[in-house]
Amino acid sequence: MDEKQIEQVTNELLNSGFAGEQIVAGKPLESLSISYYPPTYKNYLRVSPIPQSAEISSRRYSQILTVVEVAKRNHIGLQIISSGLNIGYGSDAPYAENTILIDLSSFDKIYQYNKILGQISLEPGVTQQALYDYLVNAGEEHWPDSTGSPIHSSIIGNYLERGFGHSPIAEHAEQIVTMTCIVPRGSESTPTIVSTAVNGSFSSIAKRPHVVSIGPNFNGIFLQSNIGIVTNMTINVLPKPESFVAYFVEVNNQTFSKFIETCRYLKQHNVIQSAAHVGNYIKTLQLLAAEYPKIIGSYDADTLKNTAKQYGLSDWMMSGALYGTKYQVKANIKELKRYLKPLGLKPVFMNEQKQALLSKLNNFAQKPSVRKFVNSAITSPVAPLRFLASRLAMLKGFVSLCELKKGKPSNYFLNTIYWRNLDKLKHDQANDPGQDNVGCIWGAPCSPIEGEDVEAIINLINNKCDEHKFEPAISCTLLNKRNIECVLSISFDRNKPTEEANALQCYKETMLNCASAGYLKYRLSTHSNEYFDSQLLGTDLPILSLKNELDPLNIIQPGKYKIVSDFFTPLGTENKKNQQKQ
Ligand SMILES: Cc1cc2nc3c(=O)[nH]c(=O)nc-3n(C[C@H](O)[C@H](O)[C@H](O)COP(=O)(O)OP(=O)(O)OC[C@H]3O[C@@H](n4cnc5c(N)ncnc54)[C@H](O)[C@@H]3O)c2cc1C
Repeated sequence: MDEKQIEQVTNELLNSGFAGEQIVAGKPLESLSISYYPPTYKNYLRVSPIPQSAEISSRRYSQILTVVEVAKRNHIGLQIISSGLNIGYGSDAPYAENTILIDLSSFDKIYQYNKILGQISLEPGVTQQALYDYLVNAGEEHWPDSTGSPIHSSIIGNYLERGFGHSPIAEHAEQIVTMTCIVPRGSESTPTIVSTAVNGSFSSIAKRPHVVSIGPNFNGIFLQSNIGIVTNMTINVLPKPESFVAYFVEVNNQTFSKFIETCRYLKQHNVIQSAAHVGNYIKTLQLLAAEYPKIIGSYDADTLKNTAKQYGLSDWMMSGALYGTKYQVKANIKELKRYLKPLGLKPVFMNEQKQALLSKLNNFAQKPSVRKFVNSAITSPVAPLRFLASRLAMLKGFVSLCELKKGKPSNYFLNTIYWRNLDKLKHDQANDPGQDNVGCIWGAPCSPIEGEDVEAIINLINNKCDEHKFEPAISCTLLNKRNIECVLSISFDRNKPTEEANALQCYKETMLNCASAGYLKYRLSTHSNEYFDSQLLGTDLPILSLKNELDPLNIIQPGKYKIVSDFFTPLGTENKKNQQKQ
């Protein structure tokens, strides 16, 4: 966007009732985005609509409708954010040039909490923390499914990108009941507010939500797509179980493949009910280093393996939880033990009493005098002392993980992305990795829950990371009964341009290698959006096209998920006109 366009759009918004402080214009060619890797495209204008009515009504969203009208008139795209914390995948950066950022965080209403249905409705600005607090204050009869992302991440942005958490309702795309969306339509029509499904929508006659869908359900067309702005979402929340027991299993490389196969069996038989995460030793080292950075003296692969050995860390660590009635949980504990025993694996279970004890121990471990002891003992040449210190250092991580599985979000995990920036990390202060120029990029190739496949992904990742000298921090999540998602997070220092360029090259090669081997990612970063083309899908049939009907001017997040948009967003006449203008 040039200065003239920025001025034109700003004036139109001001004339439509926007206040000056709702519009932020960056200097030309200076991006407004906070990014963890260099954005391909930049935002020069940020608009923050605010609710125009306290009630859920079309008037409440009239400023969003105005922005859509202005974008249509001026042939500019809209990058939408709910909270813009899509860290590792592009944050709030757009997918194309000539785009303004629309920030929906002021729409933060939580409403229609239905305790019988276990459903709740919310707006884009509702954060993980806000939803958690709301449910606690409403009597803690339900838990949200929270992710490891920061507490101020949105619910809607995460659900729309097919994010996942830890509990039995971790597959977020499957937990959307209904949505309300604004679709732009063409130049001859005004934008429309539509509902995606009858199920969950509120009946003004019966004064309660419907529990069935009549006719088609259109939720799916708004996921990872670019045809509308979601203003409201109704989601399922988890009934607080009678019994909750977290568990941890240490696994070595030799048994890993068989372990994955056993996990599939246990997942398919509902013994593993939640989205259990299996992280490698680099992940565990990252948790430790976030607390005591001095343990990492070098990123050399052999040195890191040796460090992990010194602290008695296993190659892999699974963390999961059991939810249900007391008897169900007891039965599942038995079954987990029974099926893991032949592999020589022994899960450690944490019931509520043990969790409370862990929490108390952690409070003790956070005392300045104890931290001082840990800080000196953690690198001691005396093995038992070093071991004790490392276990005290890990307490915070275990407590945060147990709480996360009960829906309580935390900023604790954010510190782990400082891995290649440990000197910038401040203890017991809110860290701001964006401001600290911390680099990170994430990608998650997926496969069936099959030992051979998961090992193939891990080998592809390890080989590339080894070649480019980055640490393969991998966490594999058993998302559902079929699919395991292997998240690779590459950490780098943005103050070191060569390191940054290498990290991005490593990421690109790894993701393309995995995709070519049939291990597609479940979600695209703005980076991979540029080179993941439709050939990687290996499918001839076109995917149903709706872009021309709902957003023919292509103003909603142009370029997003191009991998399907060759089919999904064919250029209509109006699109072509728009392209020529750019
Ligand atoms: C330490 C750490 C841990 C993480 N752990 C997890 C994890 O466990 N699980 C996980 O899934 N992710 C995780 N993430 C990644 C990411 O931070 C989260 O997915 C986060 O929830 C996404 O950011 P957001 O909610 O602010 O979404 P936003 O950035 O607001 O939105 C994401 C995208 O969704 C679309 N969008 C947003 N709002 C709308 C709307 N109203 N209408 C239409 N389209 C919209 C846009 O394309 C936008 O780019 C983690 C990140 C970090 C740094």
